[in-house]
Parts: sequence; C-alpha cells; structure tokens
Amino acid sequence: MYKSFLIKYAEIGVKGKNRYLFEEALVKQIKYALKKTEGEFVVRRTDGRIYVDAQSEFDFDEVTESLRKVFGISGICPVVHVEDEGFEKLGQDVVRYIGETYPDIRDSQSEARVVNPQSGFTTFKVAARRARKNYPLNSMQINEELGGVILDAYPEMRVDVHNPDILLHVEIRDKIYLYSEIIPGPGGMPVGTGGKAMLLLSGGIDSPVAGWMIAKRGVKIDAVYFHAPPYTSERAKQKVVDLAKKVAAYAGPVWLHVINFTDIQLYIYDKCPHDELTIIMRRYMMRIAEHIARETDCLGLITGESIGQVASQTMASLAATNEVCTMPVYRPLIGFDKMEIVDIAEKIDSYETSILPYEDCCTIFVAKHPVTKPNLNIIKRHEQNLQEGIVELVKKALATDEVIVVQS
Ligand code: ATP
Ligand code: MG
Repeated sequence: MYKSFLIKYAEIGVKGKNRYLFEEALVKQIKYALKKTEGEFVVRRTDGRIYVDAQSEFDFDEVTESLRKVFGISGICPVVHVEDEGFEKLGQDVVRYIGETYPDIRDSQSEARVVNPQSGFTTFKVAARRARKNYPLNSMQINEELGGVILDAYPEMRVDVHNPDILLHVEIRDKIYLYSEIIPGPGGMPVGTGGKAMLLLSGGIDSPVAGWMIAKRGVKIDAVYFHAPPYTSERAKQKVVDLAKKVAAYAGPVWLHVINFTDIQLYIYDKCPHDELTIIMRRYMMRIAEHIARETDCLGLITGESIGQVASQTMASLAATNEVCTMPVYRPLIGFDKMEIVDIAEKIDSYETSILPYEDCCTIFVAKHPVTKPNLNIIKRHEQNLQEGIVELVKKALATDEVIVVQS
C-alpha cells in the first residue's frame, strides 16, 4: 500500500547554511539505516522535504523500525501514491485510503477508533498542496471538494479545521500523494553534524545510555573499554561489544578500542591505599581515554556518571577524576536517577544486555570502604608511589589497543 515515506525533521536551528549540512547528514544516515533492510530505496530531497521512495517490495515494520533509529527525524509519514486520473478517481482513492488506514471508523465499539471526545465523531481536515501548478483545481477547491466526498462516504465523520483527529495531506505531484499518519521519530540531530566524542563504555547500564544521549545530539561515537584479563572474562568483553552494537544501531559504526588494563590495575593495587583504588584507577582510565581521543580526532569524552550513584561518583570523587582531563568530559546522566536511566536503557534495548551478570574490571578490585570524599592533594601524593613504573605501563597498555569496528 505505501510507496514512500515523507521524513519530517525539526527545523529549529537548521536555517541558512546549516540547513544544507543538516539535510545532507540526515540523508546519509537514512541511507545507512535502510541498507540494513531488505528493500531497495531512493532517498531524495525536494522542496525542503526528504522522501524515501521504495523501489521494491519491503517490510513496513522493518523499515519504520530502522527509520525510528535515525537521529534528526521527528516524524515518519507513510505515503500512498495514486495516479492522477481525474478528480472523481481521486475522490474514490481518498475514500478507500481512509477506509484502509482507519478501518475502525465505522465500528463504534472499537477502541482503536479515532474519536474526538467532544463531538463523539471522528474529525478530519483535508490539507491539499499543489506542487504541480497545472492541476485544474487549486488547493482550496481540492480541500472543499474532497471534504464533501469524505462526508458523503463516512457519515460518522465531521470536519474540524482547527484540531482534527485526522489531518489528510493530499500532495499533487506527478502522482498524487496521500498521507495522514505520523510515526514519531527519535528527534535530535543527524549523527555527523556534531563532531566526534570518545565514550568510556563499560558493561553497565549507564554508559551505553550516555553514549546514546550524546549521539542523539548529532555526535559520532567512538568508544574505549578497559578490560582486565584474567580478572574479567572474554564474555565480559563480548558483552561490551554487544552494548556497542546497541549504540551503533542509532549512532552508526562505533570504533571500539579495547585496552588491557590489568597491569596498571595490579600496580595501583600494589602501591596505593586500597580505599583510593577506584579513584586512582578512574584517573588512569580518563588519562588513557583522553590520549586515544586526541589521536582519533575526538572533541570530548563521555561517561555514564551520575552524582551520588556510587562512592566514585560523589561530587568530590568526580572532581578528583575530572582533574586529569583537559578535554571536556560530557556526563549526560549527571542529574538522572537510576530509574530514569533504566527507562532509557529499556527504550534503546541495551538493558537486557547490561544486566547480564559478567563481572567488570572494577568489581574485582573494589575496596570495602572506598573514599567518598577524596582529597585531591592526598590522591596526588599517593599517585607519586606509581612514579617508577606507571609511564611504561601506560605505554604498554596503549600498545594493546585492539580496535573493533562494531556495526549493528
Ligand atoms: P556503568 O553502568 O556505565 O558501568 P557504573 O554505575 O557501573 O556505570 P562506574 O563503574 O563507577 O559506574 O563507572 C563510571 C563510568 O566510568 C562509566 O559509566 C563508564 O563511562 C566509565 N567506566 C567504568 N568502568 C569502565 C571500563 N572498564 N571501561 C571503560 N569505561 C569504564
Ligand atoms: Mg560499571
């Protein structure tokens, strides 16, 4: 039934020169998303709109699911094409379109029926647009005439020009396009319009959500995972790859850097007070992540931290961790409660993977009583204990960098 999709996008902030870049990036992301589906499509821009035209049979659910993961799309309208064979034929097509799109209109018992609570009727409005100016009727005439045809065919409908239940768009082009439904898109900005950032991705619930949120603003995501074999297993690493895949479903291919952190961790364990272990370890993670970020043209780091969630995420701990970075560190979850984070994790389908029980590298080395108010001067003094070997160990860790290009 549907031959194309009209892609709606928010236009705020994309005026002038930026608009072109925004649209180019959006088209690119749409093409990328559709490549994963069975059908053949052409994506085109005309008169400030983006259309996805099917060139083959396709699975409607699969295609809309894919488009719903493209940041920058605010709505997806499935479009029916009908041939222009005179106005009478158009009237018949519109009546059939309404019958097929809203089969419950005549069934007063149906819960799926769209009904205006005030009137008890299904209300509608026709919005015609003549992209082809030689059509014999103008937009106003089309609206009126088609309105009459619909009322004749569906006595249970009423016109409401202000707040209709069904807003039927009729676009006169080489063919005639009919659409009225809008499937909500994810919003945000197309990935690629906002530069690139390095996500510190662990196996937990938070960091994939943090990456998703920054990607939603148009930022391309690379990721780094610190693993500590044999204390963390291959399965724990695979879990992180799987989580990167969840992010990649929205953000496009994620370059995941896997760094062997074991020797650094053991060295800190050996030389520093155990209640400061997590903070010092986190400082080294940030330093290494920033180093890789610089080498790969990232403009910032991303973590899944949220104030007060654990000892290493108190304001004092965050300040101590942050102190080693000169790049901006984006913490989009900073003010979120766990439940709010879980809601997003469920929405983006990362939750089930995140709660798999494989240990991450922090759980092995956690102190019984980690500091919650680390004193930066003391931390720095204890880091001096690492002076002898740490530079070499960091160099060695960086040499273990295994890059996995993760695609959904
Ligand atoms: P998450 O659910 O994201 O794992 P968390 O609540 O377990 O977070 P922490 O373990 O304190 O919190 O980690 C805080 C942040 O540090 C994580 O959100 C992540 O960005 C980063 N991080 C922690 N461990 C690792 C790791 N092994 N590799 C990469 N980044 C990590
Ligand atoms: Mg964690």
